Amino acid sequence: MFRLLIFSGVVLSCSMSNAQPDQVDTPRSENSDADQSLDVALDVALNSITVANLKRHIDFLASDTLQGREAGTEGNYAAGAYIVDRLRKLKLTAASTDGSFYQYFHPNFRNIVVVIPGSDEQLKSEYILVGGHYDHVGFGNQTNSRGPFGIVHNGADDNASGTAGILEIAEALASLRVKPKRSILIAFWDGEEKGLLGSRHYADYPIIPLKQIRFHLNADMIGRLRPAGLEISGWRAATGSRHFLAQRNTDSLPLRFMYSYKPESDHWPFFERRVPSLMIHTGKHDDYHRPSDDVDLLNMDGIRKVSQFMLRSTVAVANEVTPPEFRDWSNEESDQFTRVFNASTQNRRSRLGVTYNGQMAEEGIIQLSSIVVDSPAHMAGLRIGDTVVSVNDQVLKKSLDFRTLVLTAPSKSMMKVRRGDAELDLSVSLLGDPILFGFHWTMDDAEPGSIIVTHVTAGSPADKAGLKQQHRIRNVAGNRFSSRNEFHKLLVGALNPIELGAEFDGKLSKISLERADADQASGRQ
Ligand SMILES: [Zn+2]
Repeated sequence: MFRLLIFSGVVLSCSMSNAQPDQVDTPRSENSDADQSLDVALDVALNSITVANLKRHIDFLASDTLQGREAGTEGNYAAGAYIVDRLRKLKLTAASTDGSFYQYFHPNFRNIVVVIPGSDEQLKSEYILVGGHYDHVGFGNQTNSRGPFGIVHNGADDNASGTAGILEIAEALASLRVKPKRSILIAFWDGEEKGLLGSRHYADYPIIPLKQIRFHLNADMIGRLRPAGLEISGWRAATGSRHFLAQRNTDSLPLRFMYSYKPESDHWPFFERRVPSLMIHTGKHDDYHRPSDDVDLLNMDGIRKVSQFMLRSTVAVANEVTPPEFRDWSNEESDQFTRVFNASTQNRRSRLGVTYNGQMAEEGIIQLSSIVVDSPAHMAGLRIGDTVVSVNDQVLKKSLDFRTLVLTAPSKSMMKVRRGDAELDLSVSLLGDPILFGFHWTMDDAEPGSIIVTHVTAGSPADKAGLKQQHRIRNVAGNRFSSRNEFHKLLVGALNPIELGAEFDGKLSKISLERADADQASGRQ
């Protein structure tokens, strides 16, 4: 990963996204025998990616002998020779025009490129690019290291990890008897640490024209998978890619779909030329660009999982009818932009306007501790110290029941309260309509055909169903939608319980939502 010392803000034009035809949610729903044998073959290929193999590559690439693999040095050449030797053994086709594995560039640097031809006569002229850089910063200096300088920087995570992963992906692809429909271009970039030199050179002098590259996965630093998950940047520049990846996340890795996207690795020269390019990364750490970025600190099994996820995604996108297309994207889509998807929870007026003792509420005793002035509760004559017995004859047992009842009750409701020794029946005019679901949503044109939950009301049916802010919903009882209105119509028209196809942190799930129609709510305990 390139250390950005000066960040020059690149402003790109932003236009409306081009809508994309719907893709089937379960890509293997109509499995023919042929498909099944392809699945078996893919499983075998996936299983060929092992910790032992990855470790062997990284042990060599990140050894002191290679002296930090700085572009143009002996150690870097030894790394290149190792990679080419592996590719040769796999009998992969060298991609360079002169039949060589190397693409040379000034002054004495070398990208390494191979091609796996596609199996479909029509689609083989299109490519999926899988790449990562194999160089690092050598002994480190003031401009490329965070110190101490003059000591071998092994770059085990940066980027022996990605290099090893791509070598294993290449081997897995080479083992497939039936190749993916589109061709795969595999690249090991040089000179990345000197300013993305290798990938920039390729973008300027492409061997496969960039127009033919439909999708790009860049692995840079995939060696430190932690519970926070795998970072994926650039998904917003590839329409629909988020859901596409979530579908391939069969290991349920937590995926962190990042909103920021920076020119700090080899995805950038391709992104600048409108190739949908994803950056796959397990996150920065204290040893980043320091001599301490060593093998013993890597999460080897994490590298295996990330590599397998990349292989699954690569094969899927190579076979997909319409791969995620480039979406003009703006740097304005940064942290500020994400606020659109996190609607404020404040300033929502409550339907009743009371607070109550939380501890007592746990035991089903709702004793009011404050009444908001001019609220429905105030108007109805509720007082501090009153204990709520029932709402519309529904006797309270838990605090959640109370909240749910208040949210879902008709505007004209009756409450029974105990005040001292007396029981009083009070008529309450609750604010607004009963809440059927209890969540708000918006749409995101980076992911057409899905809504993002922006707010969930505590105690609402949505809350009970486990719906959270940032959940993305893609179907209602199996039905797709393309607008907010369509989603709303499906929701209102669906029968209880409503099954929602959802995604959160790159994991797909089904959520069962019980709508709270007033009559149904009153029949429930
Ligand atoms: Zn780096």
